[in-house]
Amino acid sequence: MINRNPNIANLKAGYLFPEIAKRRREYAASHPDAKIISLGVGNTTEPVLPHINAGLIEGARRLGTAEGYSGYQDEGLPELREKISSVFYNGKFEIDEIFISDGAKCDIGRLQILFGSGTKIAAQDPSYPVYVDGSVLAGAAQGWEGTGYAGITYLPCTADNNFFPDTDLIPNDSLIYFCSPNNPTGAVADRGQLAALVETAVKKDCIIIFDAAYSEFIRDSSLPKTIYEIDRADQCAIEVNSFSKPAGFTGVRLGWSIVPKALKFAGGESVNADWNRIAGTIFNGASNIAQAGGLAALDDEGLKEIRELTDFYLGNAKLIRDSLKKLKIQCIGGDNSPYIWAYFPGRDSWEVFAEILEKCQVVTTPGAGFGPAGQGYIRFSAFGHRADVEEACRRLIVLMQKNPFRQ
Ligand SMILES: *Cc1c(COP(=O)(O)O)cnc(C)c1O
Repeated sequence: MINRNPNIANLKAGYLFPEIAKRRREYAASHPDAKIISLGVGNTTEPVLPHINAGLIEGARRLGTAEGYSGYQDEGLPELREKISSVFYNGKFEIDEIFISDGAKCDIGRLQILFGSGTKIAAQDPSYPVYVDGSVLAGAAQGWEGTGYAGITYLPCTADNNFFPDTDLIPNDSLIYFCSPNNPTGAVADRGQLAALVETAVKKDCIIIFDAAYSEFIRDSSLPKTIYEIDRADQCAIEVNSFSKPAGFTGVRLGWSIVPKALKFAGGESVNADWNRIAGTIFNGASNIAQAGGLAALDDEGLKEIRELTDFYLGNAKLIRDSLKKLKIQCIGGDNSPYIWAYFPGRDSWEVFAEILEKCQVVTTPGAGFGPAGQGYIRFSAFGHRADVEEACRRLIVLMQKNPFRQ
């Protein structure tokens, strides 16, 4: 028989969302009449808007015609890559620095191959689970010790440091995962903070994997939407992004990664050339249909729809934030991101999760599931139908005022 990959055994517990789903099922089984509402997961709920949807339909139609048919496109449709460069990066990148993917999470998993096992990792704590779990699977960090994997440095982001990590904790020559606007905290790094991160990476010979999946939710124009707004970021950062959240493409699957030609390994080799080689070897590109939808999303009409859709979810976020404020619960996020991060000092976040589920039949996400520094926090997601979010907020206010949170 073949041995199990030992890296799998190094993963900590189950993946967070299956665990939440299990607890929800158990609650539903013992409370068959409960009308449970989820403010828990980061999955989109609203339909793809008409112009972007027409792009998807047209992409499928063309595949059935002799003139419109296309096969493999490897790094992606050149028009789409050009459009990404002009819409998001002011034309800063050439098309061979832009790689179209089937999603940001998929690329985050694959990017690890560039660095191999033994690479030191630094990740925001709390963070999106794929950074740490993907690193462990890649063998980048071996072993499990107490509160952290050996080889992974957690960078706590809490109310005490305004949700921006102490850059002194970042080891030399490490791969840094950084997400802004952040999932789960909803915090957005400002220009000075990102500049400090880039300066640290340059000084300590690190590479940053910058996850900008929520950049289209930024409304405060002083906040950077891409790390490349910061000088020298092209020498130290790969950026991943996605159509999933802004265009409702979670099920369509389309994203991109920027791997600048200026980015080099310690030995001076081009990271871009290696990524091109890896992508050509184990990835055959994103769906042509999805890319046709992506092109539609980035023309004037499509960008209006992205604005409309992200405005809708930000509207939900405001309802949730206002409800928490009424309950005098401290929280951040929800203004430039679809997540609200609520603080329950001194409490266990799985316990608060259970309390909200029991009292309000509302599913949330326990902060501790995103890393040790998430303990005491709860993430509320603004992805939901308006009527569900309104009902969840009504229950929170009425029921929690009547029967306040345990201390
Ligand atoms: C949802 C999400 C993504 C998007 O992943 P896709 O694979 O593109 O759907 C990426 N990063 C974060 C932090 C996310 O929450």
